[in-house]
Amino acid sequence: MKYDYLIVGAGLFGSVFAHEAVKKGKKCLVIEKRPHIGGNVYTENTVGVTVHRYGAHIFHTSNKAVWDYVNGFAVFNNFINSPVAVYRGEVYNLPFNMNTFAKMWGISSPAQAKEIIGRQVREAGVSNPKNLEEQALSMVGADIYHNLIKEYTEKQWGRDCKDLPAFIIKRLPLRFTYNNNYFSDAYQGIPVGGYTQIIEKLLAGCDVKLNCDFIENRTELEKLADKIVYTGAADRLFGYACGKLEYRTLRFETEVLDVENFQGNAVVNYTSHEVPFTRIIEHKHFEFGSQPKTVITREYPDEWRDGCEPFYPVNDEKNNALAAVYAEKAVKAGYILGGRLADYKYYDMDKVILNALELAARLL
Ligand code: UDP
Repeated sequence: MKYDYLIVGAGLFGSVFAHEAVKKGKKCLVIEKRPHIGGNVYTENTVGVTVHRYGAHIFHTSNKAVWDYVNGFAVFNNFINSPVAVYRGEVYNLPFNMNTFAKMWGISSPAQAKEIIGRQVREAGVSNPKNLEEQALSMVGADIYHNLIKEYTEKQWGRDCKDLPAFIIKRLPLRFTYNNNYFSDAYQGIPVGGYTQIIEKLLAGCDVKLNCDFIENRTELEKLADKIVYTGAADRLFGYACGKLEYRTLRFETEVLDVENFQGNAVVNYTSHEVPFTRIIEHKHFEFGSQPKTVITREYPDEWRDGCEPFYPVNDEKNNALAAVYAEKAVKAGYILGGRLADYKYYDMDKVILNALELAARLL
């Protein structure tokens, strides 16, 4: 065997694992279907602006070891994600906090906000939330649910909020302070110059082959290494033998505009169903840019079909059960699965890195 590890996918999981393996003296071949490394964290320079080609990636974590690890590969700035939401012409701060409540109800104190939300939560009468709608109503009440959650979520997931798992909305904090920080983690920032440099450094010392699809070249590739770490879609690995997993995909419409500042913020969400996209990213604001031009991306969610990129797992009971079947098949067949796509989990970047480091510690 020429390699100790064949790593399928040059995204965050594969690259962190490859780096750790090389550190331990292992020979690794990383193959990647796309013409570039980085998976969905890939960034590229357009008119002097770092563009997050596959959607906004804001690094945040409460894990000091993971934070120290990523800081070893890039300088992180002090960007704090403070998105705003536009609903029928009105602008609200996110996540749900005193700024949001002041705008929504013309109030100013936490006691007033708690009184209104408490009343709406009681009116909703949900004691044991079983889906996203019930979770949202029992957390923030009807006004916030209808103006800022329901239509956005139904656009994003293409499903009724009653048919979605509650955990999705638990990602968003609810605060009774004037704090617009979308995340509650201890550490947050954007790598200055983008994520691709991190992946390049992680992959130093490995052989990397781009434009190489594992499934299409399986017979030759499997002969090259003792062990295979696979970060692609698990259903595709087994020819969809037990059925297809569902994913949401995103269509990105990116434009270079001849203006210095288009929307005044990195992320603006459009929470009404009348607007067909979910959000507009203005990439330069991730790095506090002052370039004369700007690059914006509109995100249009859609159901995944063959030929699209699978971005979000649809973690309902049916899909989770199928994912578990494929995970078991992978173990039996001797593949090591990892990352957001192969694990079929809605991971943030820090969790992906942590999982790769833990796998490396176990195997190497
Ligand atoms: N969400 C919402 N309104 C918003 C933003 C988010 O209702 O303005 C809900 C929606 O259900 C979404 C979930 O919160 O799927 C998680 O949002 P997040 O921004 O964490 O998603 P991501 O950045 O991963 O797309």
